[in-house]
Amino acid sequence: MRRFNNFIVKLREIIAQENIELEAEMKNYTSFKVGGPADVLVTPTSKKEVSDIVKLCKDEKIPFYIIGNGSNIIVKDGGIRGVVIKISKLNKITIEENNIIAEAGATLSDTSIAAREACLTGLEFACGIPGSIGGALAMNAGAYDGEMSFIVDSAIVLDKHGELLNLNKQQLELEYRNSIVLKNGYIALEVTFALKKGDCEKIKNRMSELTKRRVERQPLEYPSAGSTFKRPEGHYASKLIQDSELKGTSVGGAEVSIKHSGFIINKNNATAQDILDLIKVVQETVRAKFQVDLYPEVRIIGEDKK
Ligand SMILES: Cc1cc2nc3c(=O)[nH]c(=O)nc-3n(C[C@H](O)[C@H](O)[C@H](O)COP(=O)(O)OP(=O)(O)OC[C@H]3O[C@@H](n4cnc5c(N)ncnc54)[C@H](O)[C@@H]3O)c2cc1C
Repeated sequence: MRRFNNFIVKLREIIAQENIELEAEMKNYTSFKVGGPADVLVTPTSKKEVSDIVKLCKDEKIPFYIIGNGSNIIVKDGGIRGVVIKISKLNKITIEENNIIAEAGATLSDTSIAAREACLTGLEFACGIPGSIGGALAMNAGAYDGEMSFIVDSAIVLDKHGELLNLNKQQLELEYRNSIVLKNGYIALEVTFALKKGDCEKIKNRMSELTKRRVERQPLEYPSAGSTFKRPEGHYASKLIQDSELKGTSVGGAEVSIKHSGFIINKNNATAQDILDLIKVVQETVRAKFQVDLYPEVRIIGEDKK
């Protein structure tokens, strides 16, 4: 306790009080709206603050976890011991000719709108993904035949020791829902996108069309983390789940969406445990019926409720 109090005193020397929250209920910071309290949640306002916080956590041996918009995580009901560093106040977007330089906390939505305003094409696929640039880089987010790896030129990241690295596309190792950022526990701070000059009207129309498709096909009226499972090789998770007659199956307040079987939704005040138990039901049913293993795309963090 004393060590922790000392840590908080030092934290207050780095970052303004208004950007530090103790006992932060993670359900307020995740799109699934579940999760117990994090001991501390900080929202740094500069790259230097991020770096100083990481160095402090390392020196004081306090574990830390990075989040962006919390749209691809399930925080367990016991919450998170240590510090959650939420990268959302680093959100500057700059345009330099055909490049967009976006800080990691900028949303994909704002960045794709900035691209549209500048008549730059390539980011249209991302307009409806509710994540941050950092989370999207870490996950190599993608949709509708587009993905981050097609347009990322380079990124500035912080390694575990608080050192800055400038990584080019190859070094970022962007693969299906994975990257060097996730593998090495780097913190993404800034991403440069290489886009192309396009037709303003076509970009606008494509973004409207993709938004319409999402509204029609996805259960956006309920909290979720998007597609719960990764695409298994040679299959579609949603088709396997549908063909296992799992649509509408529920555990507690969690349900396999009737509108889109690839989504588990928080239908009625679900706990993280409800969602995790439902994930298990889906995995076991699909395995028994089709001999295919489903792995969660959504990242599961924190500890169980005691
Ligand atoms: C309705 C809905 C629809 C969705 N549709 C799609 C879709 O079409 N395609 C798709 O790919 N995803 C989709 N998602 C999932 C999610 O939006 C993406 O994965 C998004 O890129 C996650 O970004 P985030 O900022 O929310 O990350 P978070 O959920 O905060 O974090 C996800 C992971 O990234 C890491 N991370 C976050 N920020 C950083 C950073 N700055 N540096 C290092 N690591 C970081 C976290 O540690 C964690 O491991 C959807 C989600 C929802 C709720």
